Amino acid sequence: MTEAPEETPSRTMAQVMKFLQKTADANNITDLTDITLAKILTDSDSLKHLRDQFHYPKCATLPDVDPSLVDPNRDSIYLCGNSLGLMPKLTEKLMLEQLDQWAKLGVFGHLKSTLPWAHADEYCLEDVGRLVGASKDEVAVCNGLTINIHVLLSAFYKPTEERHQILLESKAFPSDHYAIESQIKLNGRNVEESMVCLEPREGEYTLRTEDILEHIEKNGDKIAVIFLSGIQYYTGQLFDIKAITEAGHRKGCLVGWDLAHAYGNVPLHLHWWDVDFACWCSYKYGCTGAGGLAGLFVHERFKTDQRLRMLGWWSHKMSTRFEMSNQLDLDEGASGYRISNPPIHLVVPLKASLEVFKMTSMEDLRKRSCYLTGYLEFLVKHFFDKDSEHRAGKISVKIITPSEFNERGCQLSLKFDVPIDVIYKELVKRGVAVDKRYPDVIRVAPVHLYNNYVDVRRFIDALLNSCAFVEQQSA
Ligand SMILES: *Cc1c(COP(=O)(O)O)cnc(C)c1O
Repeated sequence: MTEAPEETPSRTMAQVMKFLQKTADANNITDLTDITLAKILTDSDSLKHLRDQFHYPKCATLPDVDPSLVDPNRDSIYLCGNSLGLMPKLTEKLMLEQLDQWAKLGVFGHLKSTLPWAHADEYCLEDVGRLVGASKDEVAVCNGLTINIHVLLSAFYKPTEERHQILLESKAFPSDHYAIESQIKLNGRNVEESMVCLEPREGEYTLRTEDILEHIEKNGDKIAVIFLSGIQYYTGQLFDIKAITEAGHRKGCLVGWDLAHAYGNVPLHLHWWDVDFACWCSYKYGCTGAGGLAGLFVHERFKTDQRLRMLGWWSHKMSTRFEMSNQLDLDEGASGYRISNPPIHLVVPLKASLEVFKMTSMEDLRKRSCYLTGYLEFLVKHFFDKDSEHRAGKISVKIITPSEFNERGCQLSLKFDVPIDVIYKELVKRGVAVDKRYPDVIRVAPVHLYNNYVDVRRFIDALLNSCAFVEQQSA
């Protein structure tokens, strides 16, 4: 980590519209919403081959699809990678290989397997480090995400009388909220005093960076740890990790990040942004399967720091670990935060997904994602914005995700002016997989790894038809 990273410049909606217009003009298409344009954009996409690396579900294999509404043999409209990523084809092959090694080697597989089980996690570190912008000594892959929040907070949250607060957001993911709440109580402190939740301004859905910075500037002396999500799961807002980390450091706070929705979604530079610690799950944009192996980051400056933490035999240096002396020789860097031996059946899917990420770069994925999500934004606004002259029906949709590309990743959160339960059911019948948050929000994520412009365009058709059905019913 000696060279500063080149940060990807964010695209703008104007660039997306120019690109759509240019492609349309070159192909004599007059209407930017024409499905033919989506097909041309898909065919000429330089990363389109990545979709073939995945098992992409057909309509017929998803539950509750109505074959009278959609051809069961067609690809489904899977825009739910923010919740669970699709399965790389390689996963199956690597899994079978390690099961075979187990069958043939038994205990010898720890060292002699083609992916030696006792060190399997270490084979992932360089690639995971590349995804989060860290050296391999700064990352570990272990446990589940919430466990890693506990592991890191029990090491880094050391409240004193003067400095005892943890700063988070009022709409933090429940698991993060509970983890923080319990860490405060485990430290013998009370939640009313020490847990501080930032709220968006009245009438707004997302937190403004300026408000976060101002809160830190005013109250930082009392804050022990700032712990926010890199991308907010509900609104899709991408926080300014660098600026917030800097502001926290100026006031002497430790700054940690939950990157559940950021890992594999947007380029990250944890080392250069000077983040103290971070953790993430790998099964959303990371495509490792439900409950997949999580990760953690601890900045290099804590490499030899012996701070008290939760320990296990895997926190002990490899060189003497198996002497079983019960004299802890703490491993350095992020490795020293591991507790158990690596679960090979979770390491394998991680390894497989990393191989897919290695076929491209986060920068190229990010660029693709900006265009795909920009295209989705254009279509949603065109057909569903309250003030659009092209609005198809009565139902209108507001995008609550920030419109600036540097404040979001793949996901857009659509807020409907009607309850979504019937609309959602109708979408499912039409082969759409998206994520619902009752009463009125649907989260849609065209994922740079496997989605394309046709998926996005077909989603819009399915949504138009679903809304038309609902309007007809209530007429
Ligand atoms: C998905 C998600 C989790 C899930 O936690 P697990 O420990 O993996 O079950 C936690 N926090 C955030 C912010 C998430 O997005």
